[in-house]
Amino acid sequence: MNYKLWIDGKWEDTDDGKMMSIEDPATGKKIAEVVDASRKDVDRAVQAAKRAFYDGRWSKKTPGERSKIIWKLADLIEANAEALAKVESENTGKPYAFVSLGGDIPFAVDNLRFFAGAARDTHGSNSGEFMTGYTSIYRREPVGVVGQIAPWNYPLMMAAWKIGPALAAGCTIVLKPAPGTPLTTLMLAEIIKEAGIPDGVVNIISGGNDAGQAIVEHADVRMVSLTGSTGTGKKIMKTAADTLKRVHLELGGKAPFIVFDDSDPELVAAKASMAATLNTGQDCTAATRLYVEKGKVKVMQEAVVEAMKNIKVGKPFDDGVQMGPLISVVQRERVSGFVDRAKSAGAKILTGGGVPKGYDEGYYYEPTVIANVQQDSEIVQQEVFGPVITVQEFTDEADALGKGNDVLYGLAASVFTRDIGRAMRISSQLEFGTVWINDHLPLTSETPHGGFKQSGFGKDLSAEAIGDYQVTKHVMIAQ
Ligand code: NAD
Repeated sequence: MNYKLWIDGKWEDTDDGKMMSIEDPATGKKIAEVVDASRKDVDRAVQAAKRAFYDGRWSKKTPGERSKIIWKLADLIEANAEALAKVESENTGKPYAFVSLGGDIPFAVDNLRFFAGAARDTHGSNSGEFMTGYTSIYRREPVGVVGQIAPWNYPLMMAAWKIGPALAAGCTIVLKPAPGTPLTTLMLAEIIKEAGIPDGVVNIISGGNDAGQAIVEHADVRMVSLTGSTGTGKKIMKTAADTLKRVHLELGGKAPFIVFDDSDPELVAAKASMAATLNTGQDCTAATRLYVEKGKVKVMQEAVVEAMKNIKVGKPFDDGVQMGPLISVVQRERVSGFVDRAKSAGAKILTGGGVPKGYDEGYYYEPTVIANVQQDSEIVQQEVFGPVITVQEFTDEADALGKGNDVLYGLAASVFTRDIGRAMRISSQLEFGTVWINDHLPLTSETPHGGFKQSGFGKDLSAEAIGDYQVTKHVMIAQ
């Protein structure tokens, strides 16, 4: 494997950057060392992307030509799935079987195939005569060089979600994976070249927050797309103001999981436990706040606790493992800090709340259910980003909606009920970018994913994402 910087279609040494250690969260051991790109490195990558954009080697290809190459990229990722999944599991602690078969890599492949198709679907506003003697034409043009900054929770999948729509739109890219999880994104570099994407169109630089900051500050970058925390989104938006660049922000979440008394406890327990622990709860759409209609709290709570106890925690490469470690020692301290403070404030830990037995190595944390919490408490209001769910009760629809909406975030929510009228009423009033009815978590490449409120704006997935990477030009012709 190569751990240099991928600039203009080749591996380059850093100019005056440093090196960063990369570790395996299941053992805490170092597995690689990569470049922490400097400002000069960022500038080289941006210049390569700028040359590639303005000479039209990608933006002037026809949609059909771009589509064929993006499709080939998907095929090559699929052909390399095993190797990519192995490295992704080592670098993140995710269960290997899930990364390779059910989750990250198959979804990344499907997503690129969707954008390969969508690249050709170029419908838009009609051209016409809006002033006597003139014809107006609308052109949807690529925005230019885009900076794409990814988080650590789904490294390869986030890279695919980002490059797919930008490539379909005709943009060129400087992509920065998260500091701790760059390995599969770096592996993608040579696959991108093999697919036939011209040199300089996708540049990949590993680096920390300062490298990200340098991308956002760069005057030649026309748009920045971040998937990351709300705090980082706010900083990026402020920095981007200096060069008035567009921002596309996929930020944190604090999803409510609202259960009415006609719901099946078994279904609720299965869905809530899965949605709270998938990716060790390090998912922006994870189920984090369980609200149960008064009268059914005991039965639902017991079912969820039982299901959480049955989640199989283990090493990423062991059979049947559902949940691996948290990503880092810092993340485990963060998660346990939230739980410990909740306990001190009077919350009751129904299960979990510590390191599972036998896991002295790595950054494991138990699936955790917490009751006796107040709506305005830190554990209910803040994003924990671990396998932790709180339980509260509500009295009626208005109370459920009030509590569900009462956070700064607005990414995803779910409602469990057999009453379709109620499901429709509630879903239309929940202020979240995605609302599931009788499920929690599934996403598809065709449907938009993005936040309301302080979960950000702009969409990943779906044809809407391509639109976010385009600008409209009006050309007016005197006849
Ligand atoms: P983070 O905000 O710490 O980092 C995300 C990326 O931003 C990293 O690559 C980091 O180096 C970079 N960065 C940090 N400071 C920067 C700055 N000042 N300028 C430019 N770049 C900077 O987030 P994280 O801890 O890696 O990821 C977890 C967060 O991501 C959670 O809040 C989670 O909810 C969110 N997330 C959101 C979605 C979504 O679709 N909305 C998906 C996945 C994760």
